[in-house]
Amino acid sequence: MGVTRIDADDQRTDEVTDLLQQLIRNACVNDGTPGTGGESRSADLLADYLDGSAFDVERYEPEPGRASLVARLEGRDPEAPTLLLMGHTDVVPVNPDGWRHDPFAGELIDGEVWGRGAVDMLNLTASMAVAARHLAESGFNPAGTLIYLAVADEEASGTYGAHWLADHEGDAVSADYVITESGGIPIPSPTGLKLPVIVGEKGCYWCRLRVHGTPGHGSQPYRTDNALVTAAEVVRRLDTFQPGTQIHDVWRRFITSMGYPPEVTEPLLSTDGLDDMLESLPLGMARQFHACTHTTFAPTMAHGGTKINVIPDTVDLEVDIRTLPGQDDEAVAALLAEALGDLADRVDVEVVVSDGSTASPVDTPLWDSLSRVSQTFYEGSQTVPYLTVGATDSRFFRRKGITAYGYGMFSEKMSFEDYGSMFHGDDERIDTESLGLSVALWDRVARDLLE
Ligand SMILES: [Zn+2]
Repeated sequence: MGVTRIDADDQRTDEVTDLLQQLIRNACVNDGTPGTGGESRSADLLADYLDGSAFDVERYEPEPGRASLVARLEGRDPEAPTLLLMGHTDVVPVNPDGWRHDPFAGELIDGEVWGRGAVDMLNLTASMAVAARHLAESGFNPAGTLIYLAVADEEASGTYGAHWLADHEGDAVSADYVITESGGIPIPSPTGLKLPVIVGEKGCYWCRLRVHGTPGHGSQPYRTDNALVTAAEVVRRLDTFQPGTQIHDVWRRFITSMGYPPEVTEPLLSTDGLDDMLESLPLGMARQFHACTHTTFAPTMAHGGTKINVIPDTVDLEVDIRTLPGQDDEAVAALLAEALGDLADRVDVEVVVSDGSTASPVDTPLWDSLSRVSQTFYEGSQTVPYLTVGATDSRFFRRKGITAYGYGMFSEKMSFEDYGSMFHGDDERIDTESLGLSVALWDRVARDLLE
């Protein structure tokens, strides 16, 4: 299998390494409260980096300190497509105790850049900026328009980032194609290297269940109506509830592309056989595959009771429900009622967040372009569609009918397992070869799609 080696002396690899180190040191930690993030530091850094290039650069700051940056290289032909490369600049909090190196020093150690955001996703945010600047410096003057968006607040809900821009500055971020995070990790398979393109993501349906009972004295529990006991049964039912397996289009195309032997492929595409098959898979893979093919119910929080000698009359449970493409609120509510069974009338359901699953079509010019360009990195590789179980900023674009995928390019030093465990985990780091490959990816995709 041929691999494009990026010249270690490539000027762009040095620049992306340096830019990533600076983004990590900016420590734009977003804990979900408005006063955190501080992404304006990185918007300023990236504006300085692009200064003097042919890009028009705008900053948008809906809340002090929460700036996003939009850089635009206008194409020659208004009819030609627009490609938007989107990287977020915020990161999630860390517990430094679990790290071998300072998570915000951005150190380069043995060919790897260490720090929070090294894989989620400052690596790509940096590589998109470096590719953009070098494209402009090379005199790139394409038919289509190239937009680089360094966006705030992805790690909360996009309130001060992509959601806000989509609602308030739609023209500035309007595009035909969007590429952002969390695809492209090479997966070896019996039929060669597979490169997952994230074409869709699950939805969230977060709800609070208020379980009712009747108060009484804790010294006389016989035949009381204890809300905590009822809540325990509700939790047990949610945990054991088995909604049916959904073999949706993205899943079917992923499994049929992976080149597994028929004795693996057939059950993984069977609504009857998949659950049995999951029992024989490694746990991490089984969890992923289960989540990709099921609506999941995870009771995650419980609050109740007032005093040790009082039978509680109210207990609140919080449940993290994740939904599949095509599933609306009514369908989820019906599943929840089925899970609760005869306890449904003892429970009030309050929906806290309802953010439906989104998916882009697979047969698009962007898909073809990514497939073509990927061959120049990993000859004989195949792009495969994948549904991510997490959420990304793609959803705000897919809801406007824009094709949005998650992709990237990594060296074979980065395994699927390592990548998965470093996302929001300890010892996050990335090799400089992967950084150089990413810069080359954006360069080649922009030329392929826009020239
Ligand atoms: Zn991310």
